[in-house]
Amino acid sequence: MMLVLLGAPGAGKGTQARRLALRHGIPQISTGDILREARSAGTPLGLLARSFMDAGQLVPDEVVVGIVRERLHSPDAKPGFLLDGFPRTVPQAEALDGALAEQGRGIEHAVKIEVPKEDLVERSVGRRTCATCGRIYHLRYSPPPSPEACECGGALVQRADDQEDVVRERLEVFERQTRPVSAYYEARGILRRIDGSGTPEEVGRRMEEALGGEGRA
Ligand code: AMP
Repeated sequence: MMLVLLGAPGAGKGTQARRLALRHGIPQISTGDILREARSAGTPLGLLARSFMDAGQLVPDEVVVGIVRERLHSPDAKPGFLLDGFPRTVPQAEALDGALAEQGRGIEHAVKIEVPKEDLVERSVGRRTCATCGRIYHLRYSPPPSPEACECGGALVQRADDQEDVVRERLEVFERQTRPVSAYYEARGILRRIDGSGTPEEVGRRMEEALGGEGRA
């Protein structure tokens, strides 16, 4: 399965990506996670990405395309993969197609998770992520056992770019630069839109339906 997950910041891509990757036994390739790890490790990539991320802007296409291109060559991505947070611009989508074509492959599914605009800010601002296992909670809609700790005991952290002013900027960037990516996949006839409201389990069921029940247990 070769899949891209689309949707605005706060739509629930990361939550659904984790579920899908586990269920289908394919790697979740999240450019946001890769960039955050590079930042924590203080690598040159992390230093470069930092100012863009903190301002809610996109990291330049050539940087993220390079990351994904390399990751797609890993052995674990051979049977399939799930891209979460990439592509975010039409040039990224074109570069992805080019890189896959070199391997004789192509994206099979693009699923867009849709959430009303007025809910997106609250979803991002209330998000907390476990620093140990990466599990994603929402303080109100998907609450952790305690506001500070994950089920695994790890500490919960709020992403720096989930502060309200940065979230609003990320939503504007999405409108300007990422929305056209849906049209790109729609023109290819592989775009499915799903309602992202409700619990992660409800959205997960809609996701499996959109994928035609592939891999259903
Ligand atoms: P995310 O975790 O997907 O919300 O991404 C967090 C931030 O990482 C974004 O606001 C961007 O600054 C950067 N980023 C992640 N993926 C991409 C991408 N495909 N293109 C450009 N910037 C990205």
